[in-house]
Amino acid sequence: MQRGRRRAASPPAQPIASVPLTRREVLAAERSAIAPHGTLGALIRAGIAHGAGQKVGIALAATGLALAVTVPSATGISLASVDSAPVPSPETVVTAASDVPISFAAPAIGSALNPDGQLKEKLKVEASNVTPQAAKGTLAAPLKVLTPTSPFGSRINPLTGSMGEMHTGQDYAVQCSTAVFAAAGGTVTFAGWHPFGGGNRVVVDHGNGLSTSYNHLSSIGVKVGQKVQRGDQVALSGTTGASTGCHLHFEVIVDDETVDPLGWL
Ligand SMILES: [Zn+2]
Repeated sequence: MQRGRRRAASPPAQPIASVPLTRREVLAAERSAIAPHGTLGALIRAGIAHGAGQKVGIALAATGLALAVTVPSATGISLASVDSAPVPSPETVVTAASDVPISFAAPAIGSALNPDGQLKEKLKVEASNVTPQAAKGTLAAPLKVLTPTSPFGSRINPLTGSMGEMHTGQDYAVQCSTAVFAAAGGTVTFAGWHPFGGGNRVVVDHGNGLSTSYNHLSSIGVKVGQKVQRGDQVALSGTTGASTGCHLHFEVIVDDETVDPLGWL
């Protein structure tokens, strides 16, 4: 150890090839309860302690897209879909790359009177390439009154208390049996019981990789394959599945991955 320390603390006076620590020395530094002195030792320790975590964090930040992970637990309750407790995280998560250009080849099709036409224009380059700024306001509210509670993103599970769970949608406080509306026109691709915590769930495909889902419903008013218009009632809100009370868990899904719905509403 003494030899390695002296080398690390002083400028390399020998050829580079002779400087690196042996595996034994690296292991000794890693094991040591006391921080080794010298820059090299500190770097080694920092690398060992933080390298992997940082990479993961950067990768997540770079994609900007949250993984739609639904992991069935031993009790059959999905961590990703357990809901309701608000989390002190007021900042909106940016959900897509911000430097992707959007084509407005036929702006006449989209207008304030034709929101689905507008959405279609946005999706011409595929949903995953639509910037949050461009996507904002393209989906209609799934409830008459939106009272946001638990936001999209990493949070502490309100039932299990586990840390760092991915909350795959935006929760809205709403009484049970309140009308739930399609956020845009499309085709119903799922209408039934979601085995991983969503309870009664409806999924509407809006085309070009964009879907929305409505969860914990008390009843479902549409069937798979049915075409719906923006604003059509598709269900009544409820608290079925992994839910701690009446609310709507609303998801926006881009290319099979959930993103922050607030970027689209
Ligand atoms: Zn939720």
